[in-house]
Amino acid sequence: MGFAMDARNAVEALAAHLAESENRAGKVIRQPPMGELIESLELERLIAQGGLTGAAFGTFLERYLAAATRLHHPGYMAHQVAVPHPMGAVGSLIDGTLNNAMAIYEMGPAASAIEFVLVNWMLAKVGWTPQPLPPAEGASGGGVLTHGGSLANLTALMAARARIDPEAWQDGVSRDLVVLAPEACHYSIARALGIMGLGRRALRAAPADADERLRPDRLPEALGRLRDEGCRVLAVVANGCCTAAGLYDPLREAGAFCRENGLWLHVDAAHGASALLSERLRPRLDGLELADSMIWDAHKMLRTPTVCAAVLVRERADLDRAFRQEASYLFHDKDQPGFDFIQRTVECTKAALGLRLFMVLAAEGEAALARYIEGRADFARQAAERIRRQPGFEVAVEPESNIVCFRAPGSDEHQLDLRRRLLERGRHYLTTTAFRGRRWLRITAMNPGTDLDDIERLLAELGESPCPDA
Ligand SMILES: *Cc1c(COP(=O)(O)O)cnc(C)c1O
Repeated sequence: MGFAMDARNAVEALAAHLAESENRAGKVIRQPPMGELIESLELERLIAQGGLTGAAFGTFLERYLAAATRLHHPGYMAHQVAVPHPMGAVGSLIDGTLNNAMAIYEMGPAASAIEFVLVNWMLAKVGWTPQPLPPAEGASGGGVLTHGGSLANLTALMAARARIDPEAWQDGVSRDLVVLAPEACHYSIARALGIMGLGRRALRAAPADADERLRPDRLPEALGRLRDEGCRVLAVVANGCCTAAGLYDPLREAGAFCRENGLWLHVDAAHGASALLSERLRPRLDGLELADSMIWDAHKMLRTPTVCAAVLVRERADLDRAFRQEASYLFHDKDQPGFDFIQRTVECTKAALGLRLFMVLAAEGEAALARYIEGRADFARQAAERIRRQPGFEVAVEPESNIVCFRAPGSDEHQLDLRRRLLERGRHYLTTTAFRGRRWLRITAMNPGTDLDDIERLLAELGESPCPDA
């Protein structure tokens, strides 16, 4: 009995499960009724009696894996959640074991050093100045890892608010503040405004083109109208890339406009920032360095287990003021041997999120990860080309990242019905999305093993459920 034995057994069972999934054995998704699972996993008995070790643990794990969604199965083309690299998973195990809640240096010096280096690595990728060590006063970029992109967006908008309305922290928010963002922005932006007390009404639709991309050429007009209403723009938000179709907003033009007008530009690059690793793909984010803040989810395209997100700012003092009125590098006592991230984040107890990303990077190297990201973008374009050749099928837009939106012949309702049937069969798992006022089937190519034969099999399976009215 004991940790080593249970952990060894778990790792062996997981390795077998991954190998099986990668070979397309088992179903990518299986959704038994929850009541059935509560019974079969014996959850209530185990909570009451304990004893989850040895053979009992083996039985439990087998049943748990049978009802787990298999992200490592190449039929997984659904959500923007990484198919984690095994070394990242080992990072999660180490962190779960040590529990170095490293928002303060003394609770995890090694984990803090990793976060410091990763934040600087990301800042350099964006084109911002890494933070010096020891943390001297003076200008540089800054950042922190958070439990997810939604929290990272909230943090960035808090930093923007501290700049335009420094009294808000103490006195509460002004009612004239608004955020200008394309309607295609992620719902976490609206949620952040709700949390911040600005209200969802403070989210104003930025001008966009027919593919829902921000139109910087029409920002002057939008800004003029808001100023006439007596509003102050807390931030302009741009997507890099947007969630629905994976399209990138024109960041250089948006950045130039914001600089000229003294506006904060926040780029939500939760999904798309990983393209910065690739010389070939990074032009999609051209102009990102003109922004004031951005977010980047490693648990999307960097093969990192959930969750590990970064919020980065061009001027670190902006982030240091997000949750207080005084810039907090002053707060740092010169004797301290390391850096406390706690003043930059909503969180108090914070996991060593950097470890899981670091271990993926350190196992694969940047160049191999860049090839993975390029490979998935290439695959998305090839899949789109193949789907376009299927009679009656339609592709929404040429993919710019690893996302493909397409429709089978039939109504919006039929697309939802097709997805329902795919999930019931459990060989392919995809999502749907609303884009340009219609419902689309949506492939997100996260799994490194998904290939064009999977697309052939998917199309064949979709062909088994023709549209009733076609
Ligand atoms: C995924 C995503 C988010 C939300 O990030 P979480 O890590 O899921 O909280 C925000 N914005 C965009 C553009 C995204 O793709």
